[in-house]
Amino acid sequence: SKVINVVGAGLAGSEAAFQIAERGLQVHLYEMRPIKQTPAHHTDKFAELVCSNSLRANSLTNAVGVLKEEMRQLNSVIIRSADDCAVPAGGALAVDRHEFAAHVTDRVKNHPNVTVFHEEITEIPEGITVIATGPLTSEALSKQLQELTGEDYLYFYDAAAPIIEKDSINMDIVYLKSRYDKGEAAYLNCPMTEEEFERFYEALISAEVVPLKEFEKEIFFEGCMPIEVMANRGKKTMLFGPMKPVGLEDPRTGKRPFAVVQLRQDDAAGTLYNIVGFQTHLKWGAQKEVIQLIPGLENAEIVRYGVMHRNTFINSPKVLKATYQFKERPTLFFAGQMTGVEGYVESAASGLIAGINATRIAQGKNPVEFPRETAMGSMAQYITTTNAKNFQPMNANFGLFPDLPVRIKAKKERYEQHANRALQTIRNFVKSL
Ligand code: FAD
Repeated sequence: SKVINVVGAGLAGSEAAFQIAERGLQVHLYEMRPIKQTPAHHTDKFAELVCSNSLRANSLTNAVGVLKEEMRQLNSVIIRSADDCAVPAGGALAVDRHEFAAHVTDRVKNHPNVTVFHEEITEIPEGITVIATGPLTSEALSKQLQELTGEDYLYFYDAAAPIIEKDSINMDIVYLKSRYDKGEAAYLNCPMTEEEFERFYEALISAEVVPLKEFEKEIFFEGCMPIEVMANRGKKTMLFGPMKPVGLEDPRTGKRPFAVVQLRQDDAAGTLYNIVGFQTHLKWGAQKEVIQLIPGLENAEIVRYGVMHRNTFINSPKVLKATYQFKERPTLFFAGQMTGVEGYVESAASGLIAGINATRIAQGKNPVEFPRETAMGSMAQYITTTNAKNFQPMNANFGLFPDLPVRIKAKKERYEQHANRALQTIRNFVKSL
C-alpha cells in the first residue's frame, strides 16, 4: 500500500504518524535525534517536552481544555499518553516528562505500520509528506523550506506583542481612531494622563524579564527592540515611539492625551487586538501586571503573551490551506509549530489534522476542514486566513471561535457555551469522517 512520509517525531509528527498508522497506512517517520540534536532537545525520545512539563489547562472553561477534549474524541496519542502520565497540577494537565515521552515513543515506534529512520532530512521528500520539524528545524531543511515558500514567507524568530480579547477591553475609556484621522479609523487607543504614564513606565522598567537562551541571543540584532529595552533608553524614546500621542486626540474631549497605547485588529473576525510595538521579553506574570496598568485594559484577557524567541515558521495565511496542505503542492502537509500554531497541544492537534488528511488523500478521498466551531478548526482557520502581513503564531483561545448565536456578557458562561458547541460539533464531525 501507499507510504506516507512524516518528517520530525516531535509533538506534531508523532501525532500525525500515529493517526496515519491507525488508519492502516504505512508511515516512514524520519527523526534526526539522537544523531543530530536541536539546541533545546536532550534525549532520543519522541515528543520530548523542551521546557515546561505542563500541557496547560484541562478544564472546559479554557480553550486549550476544549482542544484536549476534542483530541481525546479523535484518539490522540499525545493526549492519551499525557493522561496516562499525569502528575498533580491543579486544573492543569502536567506530566512526568520522561514517562510521557517514553509512552509516545513506544506507541508510535512500535506501531506495526510505522518504520522509523533516524536521519536528518535535508530535501523535502517526494510523495505524500507531512513536515513537522518544529521551531528548531535543522538548518539544511530550513534552507529548502525557504526556497519552497519564498524568502519572505519563512521566519526564524518570533517577536510578538501580546494579543488581547476584544470583549475584555473597556470601551468607556478606549476610543477608535487612526492618527490624524487618516484613512478608516482602525486603531483602538488607550489614553494616558502624565500620572498614568509615570506609573506604567516605572512598572515596565522594573518588571522581570525572561533570560534569553544562548542560541537566542542573536534575536536582538534583527532590529526589533523589546518595549522594556526601549523604555530603559528613556521616557522620550517611548513618547516619540510607540506611545506617541500626536494626531490621536480623544474624540470625546478633543484633547490630546499625554501618551497613547494603540491596539490593532489581529484577526479577520475582529475579536482579537494586539498592542502595537509592544513585542516583549517580560515574564508572563509581569506582562499581565504591566498591561493591566494601561487605561482601558484593567481587565484585559491576554490570549497570547508577547514573546521573543527562536521559532521557525511559515507564513500560513499565504501558503497553507485549513486542511494543512501546502497550496502549491497538495500532497505536502505542514504541521506543528512550523505552521504558526503555538504550544505543545496546539502542535499535536495540527499534526492530528494533517495525519487524517494525508491519509484521506492517500485513500483517494477529499481532505477535510475541521468545523470552525471547534478549537481544532478555529486554529486552522486563524492561521490560514488571518492577515498575512503581521502573521504571528497563536495559542488556542475562545477569541478565535465564531460568535455564539446570542451574545453572553458573563465570561464563564460564554466560555461554557463555546465549549458545549465545540464538543457537540466535534462529535458529529467524528461520526461523519
Ligand atoms: P518539536 O516538538 O520540536 O518536534 C520537531 C522534531 O523534528 C524534533 O524532534 C526535531 O529533532 C526534528 N527535526 C528537526 N529538523 C529535522 C530534520 N531536518 N530532519 C529530521 N528531523 C528533524 N510550548 C509549550 O506549550 N510550552 C512550553 O513550555 C514551550 N517551551 C518552548 C521552549 C523552547 C526553547 C521552544 C523552542 C519552544 C517551546 N514551546 C513550548 C513551543 C512548542 O510548542 C514546542 O516547541 C513544541 O515542541 C512544538 O511541537 P513540534 O512538533 O512542532 O516541534
